Amino acid sequence: MTVLVDIRSRDAAPARAEFARPVLRQRGQREVFCGLTGIVWLHRKIQDAFFLVVGSRTCAHLIQSAAGVMVFAEPRFATAIMEERDLAGLADANEELDRVVDELLARRPEIRMLFLVGSCPSEVIKLDLSRAAQRLSKKHSPALRVINYSGSGIETTFTQGEDACLAALVPEAPRAAADAATSLLVVGALPDIVEDQFRRLFAEIGIPRVDFFPPRKSTEIPAIGPGTRFLLAQPFLGDTAQKLEARGAVKLPALFPFGAEGTTGWLKAAADAWKIDETHFARVVAPGQERARRALERHRPILEGKRLFLFPDSQLEPPLARFLSRELGMELVEVGTPYLNKDLLSRELEALPPGVVLSEGQDVDRQLDRCRAARPDLVVCGLGLANPLEAEGITTKWSIELVFSPVHGFDQAGDLAALFARPLKRQALLRV
Ligand code: SF4
Repeated sequence: MTVLVDIRSRDAAPARAEFARPVLRQRGQREVFCGLTGIVWLHRKIQDAFFLVVGSRTCAHLIQSAAGVMVFAEPRFATAIMEERDLAGLADANEELDRVVDELLARRPEIRMLFLVGSCPSEVIKLDLSRAAQRLSKKHSPALRVINYSGSGIETTFTQGEDACLAALVPEAPRAAADAATSLLVVGALPDIVEDQFRRLFAEIGIPRVDFFPPRKSTEIPAIGPGTRFLLAQPFLGDTAQKLEARGAVKLPALFPFGAEGTTGWLKAAADAWKIDETHFARVVAPGQERARRALERHRPILEGKRLFLFPDSQLEPPLARFLSRELGMELVEVGTPYLNKDLLSRELEALPPGVVLSEGQDVDRQLDRCRAARPDLVVCGLGLANPLEAEGITTKWSIELVFSPVHGFDQAGDLAALFARPLKRQALLRV
């Protein structure tokens, strides 16, 4: 049974004057991957960490099929599969888990941080992984730290796995002294190459101390405290942001670094916090802006004027919609997102064109009806919807590619545009 809650008219008179857009909210059947998916990119980022999913064979299959093609060495993830005896309460799941962890550490002694990742089955049988993590941390300290978070698909979408993981990592950070020098923290897993580009840009801008969260090694978690100013690199890190703020860190509101405009706005938020001279800032970012604009011009002819429908999946939809409409001239039919965090997205929502339909949550059949009626030129959606829509002659782009590909910053702006241009080009070729 699905429940439709359409509060378009109620939202037409919003409580907050600064957020005056109506939002279509729906709850019903959803087509999304679960938070375990985040392991696919997180395990490559923190090089001495290991992700142990406590789940079922379904969970193991999901991770294997999502990550299998990308693993060239022994992977830094695995699934402790709960068998029928565990699920029926006939075996002591904690004893089993301890045994599996012992075996894992005997085989992989280089692991310094172990994430126990909860799943639907472990949550259904109420296996307390936070107690298990405490117990195992005590047993293996100081060589190993054990942390837990949930990647379950119960009421989540796939990018929440990263948010849950990073939120669990915040308490592991040393506390910065109240009088420590102000430092910048970039929050969100970025490919190393993008991280290096941003590090160089911040240094040229004149921000001396920049840390990235998560770090490349678990032993390099930066100290966090009232002197920390943080920039989110991804719009789906609401819980992590809250944990950082509880530590006294201060969020710098900004556009997200997609495209020339987003990257400039994101860097500028940090430059303003450090009171960097405007002329100096403009001089530093000008070459990157120029490279990005030139790269985007190559894709504009195919994207300009095309009608775009974004299904709710990655939570990247509002910043992508802003980028595609403002920098590439696409027309937005509907911008769906699983969750609409107005606090984190305030700048993005202000930058969207007037009149765009914003939707939060999903009732997939109703949304498919709206999509079919609109006949957009391009649909951004999850894998589960892409094939059926393609079979109906609607061109699609898989949203999951957006988290696997380097897309942030000036030098990736062209690649980001190419992800949307490619399916349209392919469709044009097929029509000839
Ligand atoms: S965590 Fe839940 S939704 Fe994800 S693979 Fe396992 S059973 Fe499926």
